[in-house]
Amino acid sequence: MSDEVMPFLFGWKLSEIVVVEDHLHLRSGTVGVLVEPDARAHCFKHKEHLAPVANCACGFFARTTSESLVLYARYPLSHLLEVELSGRVIAKRGEMRAEHQRILRLLLLPTCYRCGAVASMLTEPSPSRSRVEVFPAPALTSVCEECAGARWWLCDEIQSDLGIPVSWAVPSEALVLHGVGMNLGDH
Ligand SMILES: [Zn+2]
Ligand SMILES: [Zn+2]
Repeated sequence: MSDEVMPFLFGWKLSEIVVVEDHLHLRSGTVGVLVEPDARAHCFKHKEHLAPVANCACGFFARTTSESLVLYARYPLSHLLEVELSGRVIAKRGEMRAEHQRILRLLLLPTCYRCGAVASMLTEPSPSRSRVEVFPAPALTSVCEECAGARWWLCDEIQSDLGIPVSWAVPSEALVLHGVGMNLGDH
């Protein structure tokens, strides 16, 4: 199973949520680019590529299982995306790179990053010495009502701003977002 061409697949990936010009956007935690709900891939290195190209890194990345993302989660800033991949898709060892990506739903970190209670909104996390901000706009994280900061977003607002279905991750997905103590940093 390598370099196969497949018509249509589902995959999982991590995403951050950021505020840009007063609107919420999805941002790749890996390369820092904003992600549209429905998009076609471009190669940032080689203009002539029709992404994805086998020996390059272009195309939309996704993994076949959400569990395998546990190594890449950047707690408490990562949330889960389920995506539909189509067009040309290169699949190798559980990882896929696709020409076309449509975001099916966003699953939010369901626990408050401050107290661990059930989260009910997103907020801008307070600055932390242990957390390195890689990109300029701060990524949002989850909080309970008690711990909410000065500004917050409820599930409905997030959904209408992003234009995709949004819900809270179930416990098994939450484990992935917590990185279960295996967080190796940014990838
Ligand atoms: Zn390329
Ligand atoms: Zn709390």
